[in-house]
Amino acid sequence: KRRIGVMTSGGDAPGMNGSVRAVVRMALHSNCEAYAIYEGYDGLVKGGDMIKEMQWEDVRGFLSEGGTLIGTARCKEFMERDGRRTAAKNMILNGIDALIICGGDGSLTGADKFRGEWPSLLEELVEKKELTAEQVAPFKHLNIVGLVGSIDNDLSMTDATIGCYSSLARICEAIDSVDTTATSHQRAFVVETMGRHCGWLTLMAGVATGADFIFIPEQPAKEGWEGGMLNIIRKHRAMGKRKTIVIVAEGAIDEHLNKITPTQIKEILSGAGLDTRVTTLGHVQRGGRPAAYDRMLSTLQGVEAVKAVLEATPETPSPVICMIENKIVRRPLLEAVAQTKKVAEAIEKKQFETAMELRDAE
Ligand code: ADP
Repeated sequence: KRRIGVMTSGGDAPGMNGSVRAVVRMALHSNCEAYAIYEGYDGLVKGGDMIKEMQWEDVRGFLSEGGTLIGTARCKEFMERDGRRTAAKNMILNGIDALIICGGDGSLTGADKFRGEWPSLLEELVEKKELTAEQVAPFKHLNIVGLVGSIDNDLSMTDATIGCYSSLARICEAIDSVDTTATSHQRAFVVETMGRHCGWLTLMAGVATGADFIFIPEQPAKEGWEGGMLNIIRKHRAMGKRKTIVIVAEGAIDEHLNKITPTQIKEILSGAGLDTRVTTLGHVQRGGRPAAYDRMLSTLQGVEAVKAVLEATPETPSPVICMIENKIVRRPLLEAVAQTKKVAEAIEKKQFETAMELRDAE
C-alpha cells in the first residue's frame, strides 16, 4: 500500500484542516495509507511521534475548525541540508514516499527543493550508514504536491488560496463592527489589514464594505494623495455620510516607495477635523472558523492532490493545486512560486503593470 504524508506548514490559514481531512480520506478511499506529519517540517525532522498514521475517524470534525489541528511551525533545520537528510530518513523509516504540503510559497519552495535533492540525500544516508542500501532501495522518487494555504491570496496562478475568503469575511465583520461606532459618533476609522505584497484582502474588503479610501502595495499613492483622499472624504460627508473608513494594507506605499502607515493617515484625517481612531486587525484576520468557500476549496483541492500523487511519474514536475476560473487545476509548483517571487520583486522595483500581468497570468 502507498503511504502518503500530509502536513501544514508556514503561517496558519482557515481551511488547512479541511485539506488534511480531504487528503486523509481520499488516500484511504484510494486504498493508500495516510500519515499526518505534525508541526510542519519540524515533525519531519524530529520523526517519532510526530508522524502518525491517520484513520477515517481521526479527521472527523476537521472541516469546520480554523487554523491547523496538526500544527504548523517555522523550521530552521529544514532550511539546511542536514535537516532535510534527517527528514528523508524519517520518511523512509515510516515508508512514506509522497508528501502533500499545505502552506505558503516558502513551504512549497522547501518541498520542491527536498524532492530535487532526494536521490542525493538517500546516497548520503547510505554513505553515513544511517540507513542501508536495502532500506532506501524502494524509495527512488519522492512525490511532492502543494496546496496553497495563505490568507493573503498572494500566489500567482491561482484565483484563490485556501484561507483568503475566510479572512476577507472576518475583515468585513470587523469593519462592520467599527462602522457602528463610526456612524454613531461620526468618526473616522483607519483599519490596517494584512498583506505585504498583495492588496487582495484590502481591495476586496474595500469593495465589500464600501470603504471611502484604500491603500494597497500594487497601486502606490501618488504625490498629493493626502489632498485627494480628503476631497473624496469631504464629498462623502457632504452627501450625509456619517462615517469614514480608510483601509490600509500592511505593505501600502507611496510612489517613492515610502511606507504609508495608519498613524500617518490618522494624523491627516485628524488635521482635517475628523475624530479619528486606528484599528489594527492583526491576527483576528487569520483566526476563527473557515468560511464555506474555504471548506469547499480545501476539500476539492485535497482530493485532487491525492489524485496528483497517484498519477505522478518521476518526470512530472511537482504540481501545485490551483483554482482557475472556478476549476480545480494543476500547475507546476516551481513556476507558480517563481512567478509569485517575480510579482513581489516587480512591486519593489515599482514595475506595477508587470506585477499585475504576472499575477494574472496562468
Ligand atoms: P510560508 O510557507 O507561509 O511562506 P515560510 O516562508 O516561513 O512560510 O516557510 C515555512 C517553512 O518552510 C520554513 O520555516 C522552512 O522550514 C521551510 N522553507 C521555507 N523556505 C525554504 C527553502 N528555501 N528551503 C528549504 N526549506 C524552506
